[in-house]
Amino acid sequence: MTDSTPTPPRKPKAALTAIGNRQLSPATMMMGHGYDPVLSEGSLKAPIFLTSTFAFANAAEGKRFFEGITGKRPGGAEGLVYSRFNGPNQQILEGRLSLWDGAEESLVFSSGMTAICVLFLTFCSKGDVIVHSGPLYAASEGFVAKTLSRFGVTYVDFPAGATREELDAVLTRAKARAQDQGGKVAMVYLESPANPTNALVDVEAVRAARDAVLGSDCPIAIDNTFLGPLWQRPIDQGADIVVYSLTKYVGGHSDLVAGSIGGAKRWIDPVRMLRNTMGGILDPHTAWMLMRSLETVELRMSRAGENAAKVCAYLKGHPKVEALGYLGDISDPRQQDIFDRHCSGAGSTFSLYVKGGEAEAFRFLDNLKIAKLAVSLGGTETLASLPAAMTHLSVPDERKAQLGITDNLVRISIGIEDADDLIADFEQALAAV
Ligand SMILES: *Cc1c(COP(=O)(O)O)cnc(C)c1O
Repeated sequence: MTDSTPTPPRKPKAALTAIGNRQLSPATMMMGHGYDPVLSEGSLKAPIFLTSTFAFANAAEGKRFFEGITGKRPGGAEGLVYSRFNGPNQQILEGRLSLWDGAEESLVFSSGMTAICVLFLTFCSKGDVIVHSGPLYAASEGFVAKTLSRFGVTYVDFPAGATREELDAVLTRAKARAQDQGGKVAMVYLESPANPTNALVDVEAVRAARDAVLGSDCPIAIDNTFLGPLWQRPIDQGADIVVYSLTKYVGGHSDLVAGSIGGAKRWIDPVRMLRNTMGGILDPHTAWMLMRSLETVELRMSRAGENAAKVCAYLKGHPKVEALGYLGDISDPRQQDIFDRHCSGAGSTFSLYVKGGEAEAFRFLDNLKIAKLAVSLGGTETLASLPAAMTHLSVPDERKAQLGITDNLVRISIGIEDADDLIADFEQALAAV
């Protein structure tokens, strides 16, 4: 080096969120939002911060940060403290997740179920009632019915697709019950579309009913795992809190387990307090993997959605297919109306009813060559499973019948393979039935 002029110290840049009047789309912001290479030796990608604790600049700073951790100062810590509370990878990821849903803040957890359990525990006290749509993901339904019931919390459920009048009636009943039990209606908890029926919940009607019957102190939370973050933004329809199993479309490669919740600060602050106490925050390595996943989430979901449309067009009317439960081909006008108001795409997870019963469904599944036989969804690869014999095996027969979970219902999650290859695979597997 001949020139020894020192380069001036580089200062972090303000986050880029717009160019002129143009607000940048989340797809663009996934590549850099919330991370400045200047703070990490110029490393273009965020390093993984493997540390259990963070050094304070001085004692006063340590005190100020702890005021945020303990809730003395609302809104979380102003800086990094200890890895059960926060960390750089988790914070960058939380900021990026918030962009998709229009959430003020998000929190990441070690699994979707950790997120869901901590969320319920935050808002429920003895005597409270939870109102939820049905069916829910089996573990969510089990946590409410079997675990929270041990602490004096009861629930009322309603079928996805309920009308405004039906919702008013359910909430009124729940409110009366809560008064009898000396509690409140703690939360309205939704899952839409429901698994495996794909029934949609009218979130706008739930919001109107909640406002009319309960007022705004009872949050509406919704599990958006099946259509989010690309095809449904429930906060726009009046939900307060969005819940994800990031294990599915967001992670997208079937190689990690994680969860998140997002919403207005008002709702997220108390959940963060309980996460600080209990732990359950996502680890830095998985947070880093999810940042990588988010760079392609729009590409992956768009391709999977296009593939599912092509595959369903082929399956519809196939002589060995009894029916399809696909959001791109809804027969019920009320469900279609909800879809038109709430969803921007039909997703890539659907139900295929093979003509016959379990034996025919087994033969179809056992003959698939490209599609893998596994539960879960939202990955790059196509998966197929039989809910009645697998994920919903423990559901009593009566409830299965009520939910339409028959022995010939095959659950399919379409991936990002070549669509014509997938069609060839389904064609030969159906031929073997
Ligand atoms: C998978 C899933 C969950 C649970 O998430 P984990 O990451 O497996 O804990 C919750 N809700 C829905 C809709 C899911 O598909």
